[in-house]
Amino acid sequence: MAHVVLCRVLEYDPILLHSALSGAFRLLDAQSCFQPGENILIKPNLLSAVNPDRAVTPHPAVFSALAQVLSSLDLKLSYGDSPAMSQPAAAARMAGLTDIADRMGVAQADFSTSASVRFNQGVHLKEAPIATGVLAADGLVNLCKLKTHALTGMTGAVKNLYGIIVGPRKAQLHVQFPDLQSFAHMLSDLNRQFAPRLVVMDAIMAMEGNGPMNGKPRPCGWLIIGLDPVAVDAVGAVIMGYDPGDLLVLKTAQKAGLGQADPETIRITLLDAVTGETTGQGSLKEFSGQLEIPDFVRPAVSRSLMTLATTVAGPLIKRHVMERPAIRSSVCTRCGQCVKACPVDPKALTQKLADAVPAYQYDRCIRCYCCQEICPVGAIVVEPAWPGRLLARKLKG
Ligand code: SF4
Ligand code: SF4
Repeated sequence: MAHVVLCRVLEYDPILLHSALSGAFRLLDAQSCFQPGENILIKPNLLSAVNPDRAVTPHPAVFSALAQVLSSLDLKLSYGDSPAMSQPAAAARMAGLTDIADRMGVAQADFSTSASVRFNQGVHLKEAPIATGVLAADGLVNLCKLKTHALTGMTGAVKNLYGIIVGPRKAQLHVQFPDLQSFAHMLSDLNRQFAPRLVVMDAIMAMEGNGPMNGKPRPCGWLIIGLDPVAVDAVGAVIMGYDPGDLLVLKTAQKAGLGQADPETIRITLLDAVTGETTGQGSLKEFSGQLEIPDFVRPAVSRSLMTLATTVAGPLIKRHVMERPAIRSSVCTRCGQCVKACPVDPKALTQKLADAVPAYQYDRCIRCYCCQEICPVGAIVVEPAWPGRLLARKLKG
């Protein structure tokens, strides 16, 4: 049974965060996952160069508390991530991590260069360029943020590892693994080869709505810590109101033996960060009602349609039935970044004139949502096609 510790933390208070993490380390015996002198990389989710108030990246106070607790284990720490479009150093600076890391002697890992890695145990992913900073480390600590995600429903620990693949190659992998099931297999292979020693999820201020980049910050008040990334994500999924078994990424990771997504096989401990006392214990299933935020705004998960889109009827389904990205022209600044981000060839999104709103060719679109993720002003939303909604309901029933 997986074990996940949840601490009620309503504000990014440094003392409370340090106490919460120290208590969770004790309960999980997390210190035994590390040997003194090891090089450990903290891998925060730094999707883009944005201010931490937008809840796109883990809060710097969580990073600071985590680095303090890990430093006390006599480890050599580094940190880094490869954002989709921004430069790694710029993303870290905007997220508020650089000053903290410099002060604490946590080195910025090299996420600008990469080396090709063979995935000998990879079932679907056989080779990928992995950031040099990851390869230089003895192990990873996964510092993720609880957010909605247009493609996967949610992003947390399992999806966070996608950032160890450097820059533009991430977009190409969307083409190599064009539907959600194959993408989920690829994420499982990544998580098998680079399994984190520990996972810390910042769900104190999560993101709902048009995530992972342009959603709204949503206070949830939980710091979630575990050794099993799938189980930590399952807890986040329950908070958002999902059944973790409906999320293909989690279901696939569990099937691949990477962790537990079933709420009956995840043991929860509630920890009072102030007193250090345990205030509750039981399975995630038992705690679901208490944890779920009923009005959390999350994307619909239309698995059946994603699967149908890989059949011969795919182009028709993609054009007329499936949910799809759509540009709100009143918000669009015509910057063209979404066109650059589109990984398919020929592109499924084109901008005929520099001052025109880009236009979609939905039959070419693989629904990777790179365009929606990258738009700096949140002009791209996921639009439910009404025939698709009807069909999804029928397939579900
Ligand atoms: S990235 Fe956003 S703002 Fe820029 S052209 Fe595309 S939709 Fe418009
Ligand atoms: S148009 Fe957007 S969702 Fe479609 S393939 Fe291109 S980037 Fe992906």
